[in-house]
Amino acid sequence: MDALVTSGLTRRFGQRTAVGDLSLSVKEGDVYGFLGPNGAGKTTAIRCILGLIRPSSGEVTVFGERDPIRQRAFVGAMVETPAFHRWMTAEDNLARAAAFSGIEKSRIAPALERVGLTGRGRDRVGSYSLGMRQRLGIARALLSKPKLLILDEPTNGLDPRGMKEVRDLLATLARDEGITIFISSHLLAEVEQLCTRVGILEHGRLIAEGTPAALAGRQQVAEIGATDREALQAALEKMSIPVLSDGEQGRLRISLASLSAADLNRHLLDAGVQVNALIPGGRSLEDLFLSLTSEELS
Ligand code: ATP
Repeated sequence: MDALVTSGLTRRFGQRTAVGDLSLSVKEGDVYGFLGPNGAGKTTAIRCILGLIRPSSGEVTVFGERDPIRQRAFVGAMVETPAFHRWMTAEDNLARAAAFSGIEKSRIAPALERVGLTGRGRDRVGSYSLGMRQRLGIARALLSKPKLLILDEPTNGLDPRGMKEVRDLLATLARDEGITIFISSHLLAEVEQLCTRVGILEHGRLIAEGTPAALAGRQQVAEIGATDREALQAALEKMSIPVLSDGEQGRLRISLASLSAADLNRHLLDAGVQVNALIPGGRSLEDLFLSLTSEELS
């Protein structure tokens, strides 16, 4: 069953198209990584999906339900940094949220327990670390026992330990409770191990989608070195072969696209470039992400 489907979802702000013709599907049980550089349109898409803003066109379906109000019964969400009353305790903050949404107070303790904040519920939120506030935001999103959890950059601003805590928590929720998770991020490395499927957004458009392994397989990468690095760079540029990043020992990491390593070597020799190393392989999903979004990063 599809937990979430967007068809032709589009949102314009004046002349600017923040999200353009976005069609994606998240299957029940997926942990879907919604990736893209800053400004790609992730938050706008999530706001449309949650019914917080109206799309210019397109449709959102959640567990087969098309009505935005009825969709809410399935969804728990955290968009951007969660806001809390800092002078109130975590429990009181959640009690307010529960009352606002007509949720029983008895759900508060289990929600705090699920995010590892039992024992800290009576502390003021002002005394919480950013990581704890993010986890409290997830607890708030879990109050309604959602089947689909939508999280916008839940590890934003966290240190590596805080990131790992949130990642581990999400993996547990998906594995032990079967909650479908849709998580946006601008950092591939952060979600790569967690996600069963990944979609890459750029300029509001979905430019790649699939399992991390399938996407990684799309990208043939290699490290290449030459006695004259500048000549190598110039020749690669002429051949429209993208340089992804610096490699080891002065070599360049490149995308081979449809070329074989042998063909590339021959073309470079023809161009008068002395290749002294050509090593295929590497962390190719990251390379794919970089090559697809390189405009934004450079
Ligand atoms: P980030 O990771 O930086 O939050 P994002 O991928 O979530 O980025 P959005 O915040 O959705 O991207 O922004 C996408 C584009 O839409 C940006 O160019 C942004 O300036 C524009 N945009 C977003 N909200 C508005 C708005 N309310 N009015 C006008 N333009 C907007």
